[in-house]
Amino acid sequence: MTKYQPDEAFAHRLDAEDPLRSYRDRFYIPGDAQRGPVIYFCGNSLGLQPKGVRESIDQELKDWAELAVEGHFEAKTPWYSYHEAFRESGARLVGAKPGEVVMMNSLTVNLHLMMVSFYQPTAERYKILIDGPTFPSDTYAVKTQVVHHGYDPADALIVAQPRAGEHTLRSEDFEAILDREGERIALVMFAGVNFFTGQVMDMAGIAAAAHGRGCVVGMDLAHAAGNVPLQLHDWGADFAVWCNYKYLNSGPGAVAGCFVHERHADRADLPRFAGWWGNDPETRFKMQLIPDFAPQSGAAGWQVSNPPIMALAPLLASLGMFDEVGMTSLRTKSELLTGYLQYLIDLQPGDRFEVITPRDPAARGCQLSILVHDEPKSLIRALQAHRVVVDFREPNVIRVAPTPLYNTFHEVWRFAGILDGQSAAR
Ligand SMILES: *Cc1c(COP(=O)(O)O)cnc(C)c1O
Repeated sequence: MTKYQPDEAFAHRLDAEDPLRSYRDRFYIPGDAQRGPVIYFCGNSLGLQPKGVRESIDQELKDWAELAVEGHFEAKTPWYSYHEAFRESGARLVGAKPGEVVMMNSLTVNLHLMMVSFYQPTAERYKILIDGPTFPSDTYAVKTQVVHHGYDPADALIVAQPRAGEHTLRSEDFEAILDREGERIALVMFAGVNFFTGQVMDMAGIAAAAHGRGCVVGMDLAHAAGNVPLQLHDWGADFAVWCNYKYLNSGPGAVAGCFVHERHADRADLPRFAGWWGNDPETRFKMQLIPDFAPQSGAAGWQVSNPPIMALAPLLASLGMFDEVGMTSLRTKSELLTGYLQYLIDLQPGDRFEVITPRDPAARGCQLSILVHDEPKSLIRALQAHRVVVDFREPNVIRVAPTPLYNTFHEVWRFAGILDGQSAAR
């Protein structure tokens, strides 16, 4: 017995009963006065702009105009310690302790900085295990790190792939590789949620299995942060990185997140690419007097430069909203919303559409990846004609991400109607 019904009134009822329905009004949604807003299912790629972002940036422009250099200590959010404004909220977002999280740089830069510290290959243990399908930036980053240390990616890089004929990766296959090669693997680096399939990996299980073989564990949470609840501290990842412009709505190229587990907080022995902002703030300005880098405790000790205030300002508004809502209630709506999309796709006649995202709600987040068995381009054209914004990956997969902060059940219903029209036209 399903909890969903196919009619439009049911979609409206779910919206009326949605405790998060007011959040939609706190975003700008592209569209025009005549035809109304688009259906924006692309929050997995670039989240919409929260209306509060302008005020955050205006505040910094005002403080800069009125205070100039004094803004470092006198600004509303003092620039000297601006990154600390995200200590608590950032930690709650990913299930960490406050000192374990810092917002800095961008995702791939953070990945490199983390590998500088946490990929320490030796003659016996030099391989990196990653998961497929892999996001290109991650592939480039790990391959060039391998080369940087004098190894050959053809030998040192292991990519766990879905089995032939399957779309998603099985945890047991990942762990079988660890059984076979674990002693030669220095670093296991995998995506918490796969960008292509939307699959949620067993983050706790893989971290434990990898640690059990003596490997260091890193996670790429680009598609996980703000999408699914995370418990990074308890799961014990050594490090994690994510971007804030996808589900977290902090704007194109937004400053990214970085997690370093507490057990490494004071590891002055780890190699790092240091800069003055990672130094202990007490001695940071005694530059010419104390030439030796003295890292501050925790993830903040991996900062390099002083924070880009204009680029960080949007995060105050966007992450503030996540903190207000909390990942638990966000996830509750998300499961209902994406479950509804799955239900309506299941009702489609024929077998033109195949959802390759796992059916188990625990094994997916917002996104459903739909493999279109024939004429994907004509579906894309129909969606564009109806002003639905989704993402298309060659040759035949559309990624559809109804996000719980600003999407509605009625939008999902309308989307399914367009798929229906497409099926009927055949
Ligand atoms: C979006 C995404 C990136 C983007 O990297 P940037 O450094 O932010 O440009 C990297 N990896 C994954 C898995 C992603 O989903």
